[in-house]
Amino acid sequence: MSLISRGTRTLLLVEIIKGLWLTIRYMFRRKVTINYPYEKGPLSPRFRGEHVLRRYPNGEERCIACKLCEAICPAQAITIEAEPREDGSRKATRYDIDMVKCIYCGYCQEACPVDAIVQGPNYEFGTETREELLYNKEKLLENGDRWENEIAANLTADAPYR
Ligand code: SF4
Ligand code: SF4
Repeated sequence: MSLISRGTRTLLLVEIIKGLWLTIRYMFRRKVTINYPYEKGPLSPRFRGEHVLRRYPNGEERCIACKLCEAICPAQAITIEAEPREDGSRKATRYDIDMVKCIYCGYCQEACPVDAIVQGPNYEFGTETREELLYNKEKLLENGDRWENEIAANLTADAPYR
């Protein structure tokens, strides 16, 4: 004698057929997954990824060491030291970000009056050690040089909405 009643068997069969039908339907729909890292999804111009420090087209550093980004950072991840330049303006002699403390809120970028500190489109900057995530000014400027074209295009695309 079977342990499963005929009614239960019928119900099971119906559920199996429904499951199969669902699978077949989704086989012919547009895929919602991508084969990362070989394929990448689109990013918003407002995406807040890895930080960069930008320069002007003549190579001069944008940062004027006003320290607004350091003051507003809720994670206290930014450390800046400054000195005056020959023309009286200020320049950062030290600009560190502890990327482990950072919560990617974007406040530093919002506070910056000269678009110097920006969160760029790069999200692939995982490291094997914590020390590698302690960014200094050289690293941030290097990031800026590397991503300048994309960042400038993103800021231009976002400008009408600000
Ligand atoms: S994104 Fe937010 S937490 Fe990260 S450095 Fe900028 S202000 Fe600080
Ligand atoms: S990055 Fe911008 S907000 Fe921060 S110190 Fe430099 S100029 Fe000021």
